[in-house]
Amino acid sequence: MTDVTVYSADLVVPITAPAITDGAVAVRDGRIVHVGERSWVLRSLADRGMTASEIHWAGILTPGLVNAHTHLQYTGMAEVGQGRYDGFEDWVRAFDSVYERGRDWAADAAAGAEQALRFGTTAVADVVTDSTAASALHDARLHGITYWEVMSWTNADWARTGRTQVEHALDALPMPPGSGLSPHAPYSLDIEPLLEIPDIVRERGGRIHIHLGEAAFESEFAHEHPQAWHTAGLASFQELRDAGFGTSATEFVDQLGVLGPDCHIAHGVYMSARDRAILRERRTTVALCPRSNAVIGLEEPPIAAYLREGSPIAVGTDSLSSSPSLDVLADVAELARIARSQGYTDRDLHARLLGAATLGGAHAMGIDVGPARTGYLAVGALADLTFFDIPAGEDAVAELVESGAGRACATVVAGEVRYATDAFDRSPVVAQEGTR
Ligand SMILES: [Zn+2]
Repeated sequence: MTDVTVYSADLVVPITAPAITDGAVAVRDGRIVHVGERSWVLRSLADRGMTASEIHWAGILTPGLVNAHTHLQYTGMAEVGQGRYDGFEDWVRAFDSVYERGRDWAADAAAGAEQALRFGTTAVADVVTDSTAASALHDARLHGITYWEVMSWTNADWARTGRTQVEHALDALPMPPGSGLSPHAPYSLDIEPLLEIPDIVRERGGRIHIHLGEAAFESEFAHEHPQAWHTAGLASFQELRDAGFGTSATEFVDQLGVLGPDCHIAHGVYMSARDRAILRERRTTVALCPRSNAVIGLEEPPIAAYLREGSPIAVGTDSLSSSPSLDVLADVAELARIARSQGYTDRDLHARLLGAATLGGAHAMGIDVGPARTGYLAVGALADLTFFDIPAGEDAVAELVESGAGRACATVVAGEVRYATDAFDRSPVVAQEGTR
């Protein structure tokens, strides 16, 4: 038995520090105790009297990927996700016809967690609609947040039974990981639940997540009203639209107090410059899911604008009911393509997108800080690591971003190898300086 396991690689990408050629990450009790050049890491461990065993990887080592928006429960609904749709309402019809038949949601969610590990994911924002699917992250010992999804409550029903039901559902979510509520969308709940859900979460120190700017009718449009919508006594976003208000869905939920640093949103496609500014002011991260947007037939997200304006961004796959796979890097590659097509030419594109798929996702869920921090490689953080079959070199990060999908070869969660291909040698050898 040695004190420390050293994971060395031809290139280590810590995200919060420059990439390290011939680098290493030392791990003890599930946490990172050292990061740097391999020879230096081994020497300083020896100086501190620690014995180390080593697993070497001839490729890239990064923090575990963070899937910042998915519904693992829908992993068995690929028949919907493999279609192509004509916009949000068209997709919802296809989704509902399969969803209403029912499935073994627990088994589907567990299969989704397995897939996430296989694609190098160590933390997930998982939105759960059926209580039987609520323990997927907990059972798979993945990090992230389980969000209980709340939708379809009218103001009257919410006051009668909704609030109590939702509080019970939230308190019943298996922990770890963290927990929270996901008010589904601005248009699928009346105003009272949208006002109260954030308070329910905040009283408990949990997290909030909402689909926002996913449907075209959420966009703002020019309108002329003598009064502000929030003084008009309206019961829902739909009533606001029916009354001719062109207020965006983002302004609507902002007025209700939904946004903030403890909230992140999914999609952010139909967002004006003003909407994006609101998100930045509230420190609310956007989880971009471009492949899901394409399947549903939406426009492409304004990734170039988010990058130029410095919006906090993360990456999600969404579920297999609207996406071909749970591989976060496939969405990262799509974001790179879209950013360039929107005129983004800065050289930081690849580094920022890899950052979005790791630290950006952790930050979206508030797990980039505190005792169980993750999303980057630094001393004290959880040892959540992913190994890619990509040769080290000057363009390695660009290659990872542009064509890293399907190339994760091992996934380590809290210091434990949870997935590995045959190419990855799981058995550590005694670490000796200068043997490589
Ligand atoms: Zn979703």
